[in-house]
Amino acid sequence: MNLSKEIIEWRHHLHTIPEIGFEEAVTADFIANKLQEFGIEVVRGIGKTGMVGILKRGTSTKSIALRADFDAIPVEEQNDFCYASKNSGMMHGCGHDGHISMLLGAAYQLSQQDDFDGTVYFVFQPAEEQGTGAKAMIEDGLFTRWKMDSIYAMHNLPGLPVGDFLISPSSVMASENHFKIEVLADGGHAAMPHLGSDPVIAACNIVSALQSIITRNLDAIHEPAVLSVTDIKTNGGANVIPTVVTLSGDTRCFTDETQEYIKQAMERVVSGVTAAAGLSYNYEFSNCVLSTVNDASTSAIAVRVAKKVVGESKVNDNCKPYCISEDFSFMQREVPSCYMLVGNGLAGEKGGTALHLPHYDFNDDLLLIGANFWVELVRDQLPK
Ligand SMILES: [Zn+2]
Ligand SMILES: [Zn+2]
Repeated sequence: MNLSKEIIEWRHHLHTIPEIGFEEAVTADFIANKLQEFGIEVVRGIGKTGMVGILKRGTSTKSIALRADFDAIPVEEQNDFCYASKNSGMMHGCGHDGHISMLLGAAYQLSQQDDFDGTVYFVFQPAEEQGTGAKAMIEDGLFTRWKMDSIYAMHNLPGLPVGDFLISPSSVMASENHFKIEVLADGGHAAMPHLGSDPVIAACNIVSALQSIITRNLDAIHEPAVLSVTDIKTNGGANVIPTVVTLSGDTRCFTDETQEYIKQAMERVVSGVTAAAGLSYNYEFSNCVLSTVNDASTSAIAVRVAKKVVGESKVNDNCKPYCISEDFSFMQREVPSCYMLVGNGLAGEKGGTALHLPHYDFNDDLLLIGANFWVELVRDQLPK
């Protein structure tokens, strides 16, 4: 097989058939068929459409897991090249078509070789975009059915030269948490507020006071966080004071401890402000995705291998964290892990269009680099 040609064909084919989270039936069939063609055992139905490919060599009990996400996003593609999306309203706008192809490329190369000793797990994860696929795979026994010594994942990043690696020894991405606050009052006539009670003033005070958690209670250097109230609704009218104001929003931070602190501090603010106004409240805080935090020694391995594959000057081994989020974080709580970002091309050049935009496309020049990185990582971790 001419892998450099085939891997581009796989990627282009996958790009034409984007499917959103947990509905990736055709994509999953394609992946499973390829793995089986390569002689790799496949266990499907791990996290609904998710699957694990298993390749063993030699007698070592050591193992490594490599994860690729494979869902698309609900965006109408605006590219007009021949392999643009054929599924209306869906596109591979996050480059997961590339992630699949890189891992399949590695699977093919490793299936042809006998130069490692141990077990490689190819983890194909669905539904990354809604942040639920990793959890679903874990609930279906990803780490109890198989003993994985470590797990690695990589994501393409437009704006960075193609093949440049960003590998953090610790924080990579933030947690994502959603909240909903209901401020409850008696309501009343807009002209006679003294005869009822008003949740609007209290809700506005809450919006302002919540920001003090970020700016007054958290360490500006060591506990960075964001809190955004993004939605305000009332059941009032121009001359009707409402009985309820609902505030919803999103917070991001980088450790489980900060996340728990924000959750409790928000309730303290809500309960204090409503009590001062003689009102009551309901409060919900839900964690969607945990913070993505790399294990230092696992990251050091990734750095060593990346330097070998792309050269020392193309590896940043101490990159700053990003405030976006990733559900690989749930896998990170199970085994030592490393999540890395790899350049998809500079802005204005091939691969430089930002993720999730309708003109985005994964850079084919990255395919073999990524596949070769996975192969070298396996050789490094499962030496013969
Ligand atoms: Zn993505
Ligand atoms: Zn995405």
